[in-house]
Amino acid sequence: LEPLHMFMVRLRLPGGVLTPEQWLGLDQIADDCANHTLRLTTRQTFQFHGVYKHRMRPLMRALNALGLDTRGACGDVNRNVVSNVNPHRSRVHADIHRYSVAISKRLKWRSNAYAEIWLGDERVEARGEDEEEEPFYGHFYLPRKFKIALAVPPENDADVLSNDIALIAIVEDDELVGFNVGVGGGMGMTYGNEATHPRLADVAGFVPADQVVDACEAIAAIQRDHGCRTERTHARFKYTIADHGVEWFLERFAEYHGAPMAPVRDYVFTHNGDRFGWVEGDNGNQHLTLSIRSGRVQDTDALRLRTALREIARVHTGEFRVTCNQNLIIANVSPEKKAEIQTLVDHYGLDDGSRSTPLARNAMSCVAFPTCALAMAESERYLPSLTDRLDTLMAGHGLANTPINVRVTGCPNGCARPYLAEIGLTGKTLGKYNLFLGGDQRGERMNRLYRENIDEATILSLLDPLFERFAAERNNGEGFGDFLIRSGLVDAERSPEVFHRA
Ligand code: SF4
Repeated sequence: LEPLHMFMVRLRLPGGVLTPEQWLGLDQIADDCANHTLRLTTRQTFQFHGVYKHRMRPLMRALNALGLDTRGACGDVNRNVVSNVNPHRSRVHADIHRYSVAISKRLKWRSNAYAEIWLGDERVEARGEDEEEEPFYGHFYLPRKFKIALAVPPENDADVLSNDIALIAIVEDDELVGFNVGVGGGMGMTYGNEATHPRLADVAGFVPADQVVDACEAIAAIQRDHGCRTERTHARFKYTIADHGVEWFLERFAEYHGAPMAPVRDYVFTHNGDRFGWVEGDNGNQHLTLSIRSGRVQDTDALRLRTALREIARVHTGEFRVTCNQNLIIANVSPEKKAEIQTLVDHYGLDDGSRSTPLARNAMSCVAFPTCALAMAESERYLPSLTDRLDTLMAGHGLANTPINVRVTGCPNGCARPYLAEIGLTGKTLGKYNLFLGGDQRGERMNRLYRENIDEATILSLLDPLFERFAAERNNGEGFGDFLIRSGLVDAERSPEVFHRA
């Protein structure tokens, strides 16, 4: 049976940027080596699913030929650095993207093994970047995976506080002066193990922009040297911070970095999620954000999405940008090209604003069945019918087109950041989920467990009276999660056990 072993392959794509040529190359790889689909992820990159073992090497070589790789996309190293920004919208956003790439490069593992295993039988060099030594990771790498995100307030599209390092840009007089640094965020937990829990990063201090790459290396080194290496469920940086505290971290940071963090500076997040449609950048070029349901790029009877994006890639002269919410930006479209792109968008019906609701467009799901081995329940395949039923329920209370942030995952690992949703579902077994309520629309407050191990009928029957109260009692502009907390329908307390006990 060995030839039937099947894999998922995830790219490293700092900032989620790729050229039209690379898009076309990935589209071809989906046919040649995978299951004829592309999957955009919540960490701003691509996954290929259904990759048989004998197709792994051709796939990796094809990626290498496109100037892409999978280094750090999995494993106990720094993962894809995410920054859900459009560098063409302002100089600050361009700076942010450059820092994303620089941090990713600094914390990339170096071993030649990648090239030897994937790119050829002989020892080869991949794009001249490989080295024998691991100057940062040494022999033992990090205790667990490590995630870094950057955000530019007031937008928190990356849900930055859900990362091991959360970099919050501080901009003064249109100049990026530095970053508030959050530490110890992370989404996953294990059912039945109350020592595990999701956690938001503590915003610990400020570092000037020109020190941020060094600062990230220092923080990753603190986790490398002080993170738990005896119990894998306790090995994430969030537990290092939870165990030792922020004061301990700040002392270690000054020691490792050679200078202390400055006090946190003021910032305000007003929203997470993506904004859809066209926006104009500082240079007059245009950027179109498209909603991609669950990030799945495929052709179906209802929507020939993969064909449409292939056609767009053939005429597009800017870039594609994957967002942290599984959506796609056709970026840097010149005014002359805009009409051509819009014609294709209209022809294939890609702008679904008129036929779908804000709830459906903003909802996220992980992959789950049939390709994730950890799945306990459906997620991506369940999301469309779930959002339809929620929309129907809401319309019955006069809440049609009210945005509510819904996220579903097939297990508690939290790949679609369900613990930051206003309505979060995590799979327990086929057809049953844990229901979490009370997140906000800013990525700053986690939800908490409301009811455990329930089927869809129970989920809808629990939400129905809450929607009714929300429709009748909400303040102007108030989100569903904020209403649940203000009204006391969901408790405001957030401690580790509230993710395990309703
Ligand atoms: Fe798989 Fe769980 Fe992640 Fe979903 S949340 S993709 S089921 S590991």
